[in-house]
Amino acid sequence: MTDFDRRAHYIYTTAMSIIFFRGKIEDVACKHCRKPLQAYYCEDRLYLVRCFHCGTMALAKAENPKEAALMTLGTPCIEEET
Ligand SMILES: [Zn+2]
Repeated sequence: MTDFDRRAHYIYTTAMSIIFFRGKIEDVACKHCRKPLQAYYCEDRLYLVRCFHCGTMALAKAENPKEAALMTLGTPCIEEET
């Protein structure tokens, strides 16, 4: 396992265990499971977008959480959450 691998696993494990996520994402759902997405602002326009339900995660530089979500894991909501 390389140092990069260890760092990637650390980021994934840490980010999945954080309960307090900043950045509410309106009108965007996970494109894999349609559940709500969460975003964490890492400063300097970097957002970590995650879907806690299916365990996917992505990083993107964007102007806001919604833009980061749509650039990565998100799709516009077209149906109500059930
Ligand atoms: Zn999902």
